[in-house]
Amino acid sequence: MIQNLLQTPIEYLKGVGPNRADVLKKELNIQSYRDLINFFPNRYIDKTGFYKINQLQRNSSEVQIVGKIVHMKMVEQKRGKRLVADFVDDTGKMELIWFRGHKWIRENLKLNVPYVIFGKTNWYNGVFSMPHPEMELVADYKKNLRTAMQPVYPSTEMLLKKGITNRVIMKLMQEVLQQTGLKFSESLSTQLIEELKLISKAEALFNIHFPKNQELLAKAQFRLKFEELFFIQLQLIRKNMLHKQKIKGFNFEQIGEYFNDFYQHNLPFDLTNAQKRVIKEIRGDMGSGAQMNRLLQGDVGSGKTIVALMSMLIALDNGFQACLMAPTEILSIQHYNGLKELCEEIDVSIYLLTGSTKTAKRREIHEKLEAGEIDILIGTHALLEDKVKFHNLGLAVIDEQHRFGVAQRAKLWRKNHIPPHVLVMTATPIPRTLAMSLYGDLDISVIDELPPGRKPVKTVHRFDSNRLKVFAFIRDEIKKGRQVYVVYPLIQESEKMDYKDLMDGYESITREFPDFQISIVHGQMKPADKDYEMDRFVRAETQIMVATTVIEVGVNVPNASVMIIESAERFGLSQLHQLRGRVGRGAEQSFCILMTGHKLSNDSKTRLETMTTTNDGFEIAEVDLKLRGPGDLMGTQQSGVLNLKIADIVKDNSILQSARYYATRILKEDPNLSEEKNLVVKNAYSRLVKNKTIWNYIS
Ligand code: ADP
Ligand code: MG
Repeated sequence: MIQNLLQTPIEYLKGVGPNRADVLKKELNIQSYRDLINFFPNRYIDKTGFYKINQLQRNSSEVQIVGKIVHMKMVEQKRGKRLVADFVDDTGKMELIWFRGHKWIRENLKLNVPYVIFGKTNWYNGVFSMPHPEMELVADYKKNLRTAMQPVYPSTEMLLKKGITNRVIMKLMQEVLQQTGLKFSESLSTQLIEELKLISKAEALFNIHFPKNQELLAKAQFRLKFEELFFIQLQLIRKNMLHKQKIKGFNFEQIGEYFNDFYQHNLPFDLTNAQKRVIKEIRGDMGSGAQMNRLLQGDVGSGKTIVALMSMLIALDNGFQACLMAPTEILSIQHYNGLKELCEEIDVSIYLLTGSTKTAKRREIHEKLEAGEIDILIGTHALLEDKVKFHNLGLAVIDEQHRFGVAQRAKLWRKNHIPPHVLVMTATPIPRTLAMSLYGDLDISVIDELPPGRKPVKTVHRFDSNRLKVFAFIRDEIKKGRQVYVVYPLIQESEKMDYKDLMDGYESITREFPDFQISIVHGQMKPADKDYEMDRFVRAETQIMVATTVIEVGVNVPNASVMIIESAERFGLSQLHQLRGRVGRGAEQSFCILMTGHKLSNDSKTRLETMTTTNDGFEIAEVDLKLRGPGDLMGTQQSGVLNLKIADIVKDNSILQSARYYATRILKEDPNLSEEKNLVVKNAYSRLVKNKTIWNYIS
């Protein structure tokens, strides 16, 4: 019954009507009673305490005082009049001031009767005053159910323009809570409520809007945050479990000749323990009979490519094809060359398909792919096209997955009649918090160990004014046989200016180093020219590579040991870390030099400081998350996911952990939530799904 009441369209609420309903819908997406109740304040004005006039401070904060008006007078001033009242309590005297509404106030305010006043105080010439105070007779104040802490709701210009002030929202909230609030059905099981010492749902909703005191507000916030995160986790974990039961996957039973031959005779180095562990996890997944959906996280240079290759060889051993998709052409080509070299001694047919593959070649690839004559296909988004049909795709690997959207992952799923196993790899370490809330339906593997012998990259921050010293340093390193990257920002909105910066930089470097060969790569070059330049650098025919961030991901030139990042303050942290990952891949000591001007924002300073103090991608990701907020970090594609009503993915990390713990525990004991004690949770969950309160964001 309460559920029906909650569905009631908002225009039926007393005090709303069609016009206000319209504004509420448009501005706040409040359609029903339920939506209104779930519209939470973003702060509170604390009216729990009373001040005495002699306790007032000159900091113009909001205070509440009990006292009486003893006298009122009009004061003429240059522009208009003001009404001034002398207000006293047993400790002193202050003034209340009105610039408007004089008539009404004079007629309605009573002298010598106790009032509770609330507002901001000013101090001028030894007198405290309060302009346009909120006032209520003490007698009414005591009668009123309304609580001491006043909610402040998020607002918009349009709402205010249409007269829907905070006061109005408060009124509506009182109305809707009176009609529904006390009858609210519980959504968490008694067991959870007892174990976590939670307050009831009804109590929480009441106190989130009208908290009786700080303590109850804290309890209400905890309960609602927990609940929000709990149901998201419940959904993610359930999905993951269902997935494992229902989505049949190809069963790769055997490890055969491809894998063994490669492992025994062609592996160019010993695998790190982390690599071995991850390969084992992947093997386990692909041999389980269910479809694999695994996220492989590993910092730049941790050696994800070889893991991808060995996983693909398992697919081949079982008679399947595999593909590897990368976000850029350069990276695809590099993977193609790298894997071809690694597979030189084993009989694997590897092809490359990108946007610039010529039509004839493309046709050949399409045909061979369908005939099963291609074992491994590497490429860009071009792999996703409908024309690209596999004979029998068993494993799809996606490199640098943060560059791709969820929809693209889904497209790969449809490349076979049973979805292929999917391995997504990322070098942008996602903080655990975020990984849990975003990818709860993926299994996660982490390579937390770099190949032996790597020296951490030394990172310093230099001002543009020290450029000559930096040039001298570049010269020294090149003389030792090293190569150098110089990277310029490229941000779409100001592409022209960036292009100019890049070209100016290129010119000054050519002038400074007439004795060295210099490559240049940027987004506006033809792919063939890009490849040519890239190639010269890879083969060490050029010593300096001037580039935009097109080289950000994946490029591997172990002899390059210096990374200069120009206008470093314009890059995000994860981007800086990615770029730095281009060096430090060989045995030599590598360096990353962050160049900036002198004018730096606080955030920029934090970013630069973080980069110079740590090489740990996870630590960097945590700082990034705090600076930018989760939406930005993941790109717009996923930002909607984190549109939480009350919880904050960064600040409420510990609540998230606990929500995940309890959701896992409940589902382990009772996967279908069919036990009596979990009925409450089950019903609440179904309602959330039905009302689309929980987003269905992972396809
Ligand atoms: P990423 O994880 O950033 O994709 P790559 O797979 O490109 O890293 O590997 C970076 C470099 O480390 C490559 O040159 C690769 O050959 C090398 N490498 C990978 N694993 C090992 C290992 N176990 N021992 C030594 N070198 C390794
Ligand atoms: Mg890589």
